[in-house]
This record gives sequence, C-alpha cells and structure tokens, in this order.
Amino acid sequence: MDYEKLRKKMVEEQIIARGIKDKRVIKAFYKVERHLFVPLHIRESSYGDFPLPIGEGQTISQPYMVALMTECLRLKGDEKILEIGTGSGYQTAILAELSKEVHSIERIETLANKAKQILEELGYKNVKIYVGDGTLGLPKEAPFDRIIVTAAGSLIPPPLIDQLKKEGIMVIPLGGAFSQVLTILEKKEEGIVKEEVCGCVFVPLVGKYGA
Ligand code: SAM
Repeated sequence: MDYEKLRKKMVEEQIIARGIKDKRVIKAFYKVERHLFVPLHIRESSYGDFPLPIGEGQTISQPYMVALMTECLRLKGDEKILEIGTGSGYQTAILAELSKEVHSIERIETLANKAKQILEELGYKNVKIYVGDGTLGLPKEAPFDRIIVTAAGSLIPPPLIDQLKKEGIMVIPLGGAFSQVLTILEKKEEGIVKEEVCGCVFVPLVGKYGA
C-alpha cells in the first residue's frame, strides 16, 4: 500500500479542494502519517473521507473535520493547547506540529496509552497525555491559549471557559446526540463571542459537564 500517495491525494481532494487555506495546516497534513494511528486491520482505509473505529466504541475523526477544527484554532506556533478527547492521537500529532505544547486528556485509558505510545515513537516531545474527565479541564496547567474538544456536548463545560486565556479560542461541537454545530468561542473583554461554523457529528462528551 503506497500510503504516501494516498496521503497526498487525501490532502489535495479532501483538504485543499474543500477550502482549507492555512499553509501550516496543509503542511502538517502532508507530514503526519495518519495510517499509523489507525488499527492494523483497517489501515488500508486510513486516508478515506470518513471517520474510522479505533476501539472502545470511539472513532478517529474524518480528515477534513480534523483539518477544519485545526484551522479554526488559528495557530501561529507559540500556543499552549488543551485537547479534550485524545482518541487515536492523530489530531494531537497535527496540533503538536503547529504549536508549542499540547496537553491532551482522554477518559479511556487503553486509548490514551496507545496514543501515548505512538506519539512517543514518532518523537513528539511537546505532548502530554492524561487519563481523566476532560470536562474538568486541567487546572494545574491552565490557562490555555487554545482549547479543542473532539467530542460533543450540549453545553460548554464551565471549567473550560475558566481555563481559556483572555483572547483565547475554543473549538467545540455543540448540540444533541445525533447532530451538532461546530462552534468557535473567543474569550473577549466583553465576554464569549460565538461563531457557528457548520453541522457535524461527533461521539458524546462523557463526564461531569458532558452531554
Ligand atoms: N481527535 C481524535 C483522533 O484524532 O483520533 C478523535 C477523538 S474521538 C472523536 C473523541 C474522544 O473523546 C474519544 O476517544 C472519547 O473517549 C473521548 N472523550 C469523550 N468524553 C471525554 C471526556 N470527558 N474527557 C476526555 N475524553 C473524552
């Protein structure tokens, strides 16, 4: 299987052709080997235009959704990021390419351990993986320049708002069990400014302030 060729095709047809413009994001998608984050028995589908199961009833998101959420974060390279929902670790690797440090929380230990292993093998030194309820955030590392939530809830977990820096950006899918709206929240002097990006479908955010 020529994964490099498949990855190039994915970037051209699913990422660039659909309107992702941030050159740093595109470069990260060319670089990060998505197939390494996908279970062996379905690896051949790694570059398809859909989410894939990663075990424990969870998924690695569709490549375009990962790219869109990343672009919405408007990363320059010096940010401290909190990610809720490590899953396979693929989005974590993309974020690690584009920022100073990534703190990622996963509630399912087996997934967190797998993601940690592959991220270590790939040599990412600016990533820390935690097992726990991400709706509580990570007070000991707060505040964060950016927060990304890769599972869906009906409300914005209050600790995450508290732990977002002033002028910081959070990206989160908000809505019910079957469909949500990808939402950008900016913490401004006057309060939280909300922008709705598009419809989306994510697995539920489970936890104290979850779905
Ligand atoms: N971005 C991931 C990737 O690239 O593979 C996909 C994430 S998957 C769509 C969502 C993940 O969020 C699941 O692994 C799920 O276990 C996790 N999750 C759900 N609720 C959580 C919570 N409260 N804290 C931490 N992780 C949570």
